[in-house]
Amino acid sequence: MKIGFIGLGNMGAPMALNLLKNGHSLQAFDLSEAALRKLADAGAAACASPKAAAADVELVVTMLPAAAHVRGVLTDEQGVLAGIAPGVTIVDSSTIDPASVQAFAKLAAARGNAFVDAPVSGGTGGAAAGTLTFMVGANETLFADVEPVLRAMGKNIVHCGDTGMGQVAKICNNLLLGITMTGVAEAMSLGATLGIDPKVLAGIINTSTGRCWSSDTYNPYPGIVDTAPASRGYTGGFGADLMLKDLGLAVDAARSAKQPIFLGALAQQLYQAMSAGGQGGLDFSAIISLYRSRASQ
Ligand code: NAD
Repeated sequence: MKIGFIGLGNMGAPMALNLLKNGHSLQAFDLSEAALRKLADAGAAACASPKAAAADVELVVTMLPAAAHVRGVLTDEQGVLAGIAPGVTIVDSSTIDPASVQAFAKLAAARGNAFVDAPVSGGTGGAAAGTLTFMVGANETLFADVEPVLRAMGKNIVHCGDTGMGQVAKICNNLLLGITMTGVAEAMSLGATLGIDPKVLAGIINTSTGRCWSSDTYNPYPGIVDTAPASRGYTGGFGADLMLKDLGLAVDAARSAKQPIFLGALAQQLYQAMSAGGQGGLDFSAIISLYRSRASQ
């Protein structure tokens, strides 16, 4: 398939590379020239705008930081909607709010295009390995259309319901992730302060009832998991400002639904403190620096 791919960051780049590896051809765009060059070196056609990337393709995929970026990429003068042919579907894998999804689906429909929300879980490791979970909001027909392409980038392709339901699933997952990461950071820090070897403590947690992805795959304490950002100075991975954005989406959604989310609101403030302290660009597991300043060094 010929695919337009826009947004080649920590997640988008490895996802796009997997599309290439699976035999698809790509027209790519990113504001970062370095990101674009990396994809061009791997065989993608580098484009000068989202409009150019969306021209003459069978599908468009976007992987951008937040709803404002998706809106710009879709609606700018040099945006996707100015270049895409009618009938071509747009799949957005960014994590954004369900209300924006509905608005973008309407804008796309006015041009004769379908808009599918397909946010992902699995981190940069899952993106590189092609094992992401995709949470898809679409009608049955659209889901069947996009599922084979998503399979080139992910292992679990889940139909969550109609337009917007993929984002509902993703927001709830990341609400929990923000909380569990903070919890693991707190427990690991306390253990270290009380004198236990952090590796021993992590081993216990990971074979006990406290085990979770934040403890066994992405432990925030340095030197526990070789492949985790904590073991490379909290670089790459999932930026703390993106986690702060996602907790904000959960808090906003909960406010509209009149549902309290006690721990989510607290976690949001912890990531806010991290961001205010100038660490929003680090991986979100650097939240442990609120407990142990040396952990971020
Ligand atoms: P990132 O900041 O690493 O990458 C975003 C990319 O978008 C950058 O390369 C940037 O240059 C590009 N970009 C921004 N505005 C643009 C524009 N107008 N036109 C073209 N390109 C533009 O972010 P990421 O970590 O890849 O995350 C992308 C999305 O996926 C976010 O919504 C995030 O919440 C979500 N997500 C991230 C992870 C993770 O582990 N990093 C996991 C799951 C979901």
